[in-house]
Amino acid sequence: MRFTFTEEQNKFRQDVRDFLQSELRAGIFVTKSGGLAEGSSQEFSRKMAKRGWIGMTWPKQYGGQGRTYVDKLILNEEIFRVQAPVAYHFLADRQIGPSIIHFGSEWQKEHFLPRFVRADDNLKFCLLFSEPNAGSDLVNVAASATKDGDSYVIRGQKVWTSGGHQADYGWLLARTCFDPKAPRHESCSQFILDLRLPGVTVRPIINMAGRHTFNEVFFDDVRVEKRFMVGQENDAFKQIMAQMDYERSGIERLMQNYPIYEKLMESIKQMDKIKVGEAFYSWVRDSIAQLEIEFNIGRLLVYYTAWTIDQGRRPPKEAALAKAYCNQYEQRLNDLATRILGPSSLLREGTPWAAFDGELAECYLWSPSYTLQGGSVEVLKNIVAQRGLNLPRK
Ligand SMILES: Cc1cc2nc3c(=O)[nH]c(=O)nc-3n(C[C@H](O)[C@H](O)[C@H](O)COP(=O)(O)OP(=O)(O)OC[C@H]3O[C@@H](n4cnc5c(N)ncnc54)[C@H](O)[C@@H]3O)c2cc1C
Repeated sequence: MRFTFTEEQNKFRQDVRDFLQSELRAGIFVTKSGGLAEGSSQEFSRKMAKRGWIGMTWPKQYGGQGRTYVDKLILNEEIFRVQAPVAYHFLADRQIGPSIIHFGSEWQKEHFLPRFVRADDNLKFCLLFSEPNAGSDLVNVAASATKDGDSYVIRGQKVWTSGGHQADYGWLLARTCFDPKAPRHESCSQFILDLRLPGVTVRPIINMAGRHTFNEVFFDDVRVEKRFMVGQENDAFKQIMAQMDYERSGIERLMQNYPIYEKLMESIKQMDKIKVGEAFYSWVRDSIAQLEIEFNIGRLLVYYTAWTIDQGRRPPKEAALAKAYCNQYEQRLNDLATRILGPSSLLREGTPWAAFDGELAECYLWSPSYTLQGGSVEVLKNIVAQRGLNLPRK
């Protein structure tokens, strides 16, 4: 492993920074922490597309650039440093595109990938995995897809669907084998589901930060053509294992609160040692130094995962380790910031004296979800124990 970047990579980072800074100066977006990749602008995504920054690692024949995952990570590190509005294409770039490349049909590759890299209209995706009785244990999925001629008929419910109210398509996990004797992990399939089809209902769920970001989604006899099934029937879990590596390995898990980190550092630099007291000041210095160490460890874990993918290896344990560590780092960051800044950190946006204009309270309210979304920290630790350390399952 190289612990340095090449000259080309440093130049690429600078190009990305220059672009983002010019967008910031022009007021195209503002830097604000909160939910994961929340800000969405097709116009901004199009500007990135023109630079070849969507689908960078994908094969050139589908409009990609054939670049490395480390290059992509450099791009994403700079994006999350300023919280650029990438949500329009983010899921497609991070995991939908790579999943289609690995498991999709030639029609799906030709139909979707070139449109993703151009950030074309009506291509925003959401993930339709979790259900009321299927979260960590996805093999309990009950939403069904029953074959009927050249189509499947979808019935059932999903929950916690982030961005479902803004998405055009869902990446759906549904049961396709109903034989009670069949192994549970060989009974589900994946579909690309057009959310405008008749029978799809999306209902909002308001989270504890008071925001509408996720939803319940219901399917009442939704008819989807067979060509929208991804991969082989009943192979979903093999596919999901690979997709999760992409979902879990990104730097967004370390940097979705980066503005809080920067603002906290800034406010500590301005802290008056005499005013706050020597003992408190000394605790703050120690805690912030520890946080800095943890940030750098998280960053290395994420780059190591990208490097592993570039070596042609799947990174299930590396991705699980990186995500488990980074999610907990982000919770510690918010926890520490609130302990240092005191009651002002609990005040919401628009309230006088609110720390960082309420951004900290918002992030603190989001932070319990970090160790759940995309796989809970306990489940990730199980992966590290079994796949990384070869410990027995039970
Ligand atoms: C902000 C946010 C956004 C989300 N967005 C989406 C989305 O877009 N699409 C989607 O499909 N889902 C989404 N989810 C759902 C997410 O994937 C699930 O919350 C997650 O998989 C956990 O499932 P669960 O909530 O059912 O909890 P459960 O699986 O019921 O787990 C409850 C607790 O038990 C623990 N646990 C479970 N199994 C084990 C085990 N084997 N060993 C040790 N401990 C265990 C867990 O760690 C957790 O602490 C989102 C969740 C959040 C919080």
